[in-house]
Amino acid sequence: MGTEVEGYVKLPTFLEQGFSYLKRDVLSKRICCLCGTCAAFCDKIKIRENERKPELVEEYDTICGLCYAYCPRTFLPLSEIESRIFGAEEARKKAEEDALGIYRSGYAVRSKKEDIKGQDGGAVTSLLAYALDKSVIDCAVITTTRGDWRPITKVAKNYGELKEGAGTKYTIYPGVVGVKEAIEAGCENIGFVGLPCQIQGLRKVQTLEQPYEVGKERIKLLLGLFCMENFTEELLDFVKEKANLDLETVRKFDIKGKELLVYDEEGKVHAIALDEIKRYESEGCSICTDYTAELADIAVGSVGSEDGWSTVFARTERGEEIVEGAREEGYIEAKEIEEKGLGLIRRLGERKREESRKDY
Ligand SMILES: Cc1cc2nc3c(=O)[nH]c(=O)nc-3n(C[C@H](O)[C@H](O)[C@H](O)COP(=O)(O)OP(=O)(O)OC[C@H]3O[C@@H](n4cnc5c(N)ncnc54)[C@H](O)[C@@H]3O)c2cc1C
Repeated sequence: MGTEVEGYVKLPTFLEQGFSYLKRDVLSKRICCLCGTCAAFCDKIKIRENERKPELVEEYDTICGLCYAYCPRTFLPLSEIESRIFGAEEARKKAEEDALGIYRSGYAVRSKKEDIKGQDGGAVTSLLAYALDKSVIDCAVITTTRGDWRPITKVAKNYGELKEGAGTKYTIYPGVVGVKEAIEAGCENIGFVGLPCQIQGLRKVQTLEQPYEVGKERIKLLLGLFCMENFTEELLDFVKEKANLDLETVRKFDIKGKELLVYDEEGKVHAIALDEIKRYESEGCSICTDYTAELADIAVGSVGSEDGWSTVFARTERGEEIVEGAREEGYIEAKEIEEKGLGLIRRLGERKREESRKDY
């Protein structure tokens, strides 16, 4: 289904720059987005629980340099990566002008599976279910929780496991490490769902020329989520205090307009102004310019469609085949996104580009 990512971006010089360079150019500048890509592809790098930065777990010669090469914050050769994924120079020019990014088709999507309780339309979970059923992937790396809303990754191999990912966890987690777990578990065709920075990291893994065997050919499908910002886990402690809630009783978190909405098990909604939680925004997000997961095969968000529906952009041929196939076989229903919705996404995307910090 669809085509594989072809060709490599040549970047020989970066492979001499190891973890000490990552420290200098990313960690000390506090622009690490905690995507987890460095730790996923190097055994010597770990991100300990409750820590917000990668570290070397043993003294190690840093010459390998994969961490520096793969980090989405060191350098991002966007036009080269895009010409390999989307195969069109003109498309890149369009994306520069348009914060929606390059896409083949856009839809408002709602799951037709009643047992999927998605964040919005349950599009992500349904599309992954279709991709699993059609053997496009044999596992999906998702972000779930143990019940307290603190994110953890899971390698989902069947429909039941896939459903555990549904719902948005608004705190930062190095989800790409789940790709390492999937490779170690023997998955040959890996699907991944994550944030724009995580998709950027994995696109670098797929496209950069380097001499090591890291299993990148097993990464087959990237689903990206729209993202204005992400928060540190202290947000959860704040919500617990502020709303006087046990996190285990929270059914859903959502951001609407200028509020974080917390839905409890009794159906009560606790609204907290975004201004009040601004201090928990992750520092590393401040330089990000990608609102709509521009490098994903399929990008999904809530903005742009009515409540209960997800906005979906099929960006690559493979992405489009999956959305179309899922529609034809009754996994989802899909309709056109209204111009008004597209306009709103565009404005938010432009705002993210304009407000991103340029002084690092
Ligand atoms: C931190 C964050 C910020 C977001 N900001 C915006 C925004 O500004 N505007 C907007 O339109 N949409 C935003 N979204 C996306 C939106 O909340 C929904 O995830 C999206 O609409 C998909 O809904 P769904 O019902 O189709 O997905 P579902 O079927 O419910 O599936 C959700 C998927 O999201 C994944 N996921 C959940 N939490 C995380 C996480 N922390 N990190 C990585 N993956 C995760 C799960 O693995 C699951 O597969 C954001 C999502 C996140 C995680």
